Amino acid sequence: MRTTANWALYFVLVINIAAMFILVVGGILTKSLAVLVGGAEAGINVLSLSFLLYFVKKSAMPPDRDHPYGHYKYENISAFVTSIFMSSAAVFILMSSIGRISSPVSIEGEAIYYAILSLALPLISFSLLLWTARRTGAIAVAAETRHLLIDAADSLIILTGVVLAIEFNPIFDALSALIVSLVFIYGILMNIKTSIPSLIDEGLPSQFVNEIKKISLTVNGVRDAHMVRSRKTPRGYFIDMHLLLDPNIPLGEAHEVADKVERKIKESITNFIIADLVIHMEPYLSNGHE
Ligand SMILES: [Zn+2]
Ligand SMILES: [Zn+2]
Repeated sequence: MRTTANWALYFVLVINIAAMFILVVGGILTKSLAVLVGGAEAGINVLSLSFLLYFVKKSAMPPDRDHPYGHYKYENISAFVTSIFMSSAAVFILMSSIGRISSPVSIEGEAIYYAILSLALPLISFSLLLWTARRTGAIAVAAETRHLLIDAADSLIILTGVVLAIEFNPIFDALSALIVSLVFIYGILMNIKTSIPSLIDEGLPSQFVNEIKKISLTVNGVRDAHMVRSRKTPRGYFIDMHLLLDPNIPLGEAHEVADKVERKIKESITNFIIADLVIHMEPYLSNGHE
């Protein structure tokens, strides 16, 4: 099952490598900035697919001796590096298109064939990945499928720009490149926005922290709970907390209570994934402790 999904991703990778070269050369030959943008888009796909095949697999590796919390941050590295490459591509296209809008360059008629090619490729890749995603249910493949739909929309803008540039005014070539570069920038901002919470260890909203405390207090033997700390990762939340128990009960009994609390929290919470929950036990003293 897994190999089918990988096979499809490798196939799409090869298609995009070919497209990148054809469209960059085509863009230079026909002087079409829009076709060149199609090449840049294929290049970004090559990058993100390589990361998908390399980093996402790495981030799913179970914890080992050197990385006791797991390898999930590889996903952040992948998003970060992709964003850097996308930013440089977006800035380059933005500058070139503004330059071209102020002094339009007429493009060759052959640009239309390259534009059609740049539309056909994401559609072929999309159908292939959708087919494998249906068969295998692979989540990474599903994410890539959504991404390809945006690509197809970009390519439609490119094709429209090229047709209008050939038929009416060369400025449309640069205009469509400008629009696609804005879509790139939007994609970069979304990438950054989704990876920031886990990069800076964002905690749970306070309502869920209170819920965790409340659930703990329903377990017999728990006197109080505090210091509920949590941080977000792509694999779910890592949570640790202090549980205050009767100071005179045996350790074995205290541990049983803590285990019960852990089970109950994991069963009751369905709004988010708990990757790990660590409970520190301490004696409940009437004079208090923080
Ligand atoms: Zn234990
Ligand atoms: Zn404490």
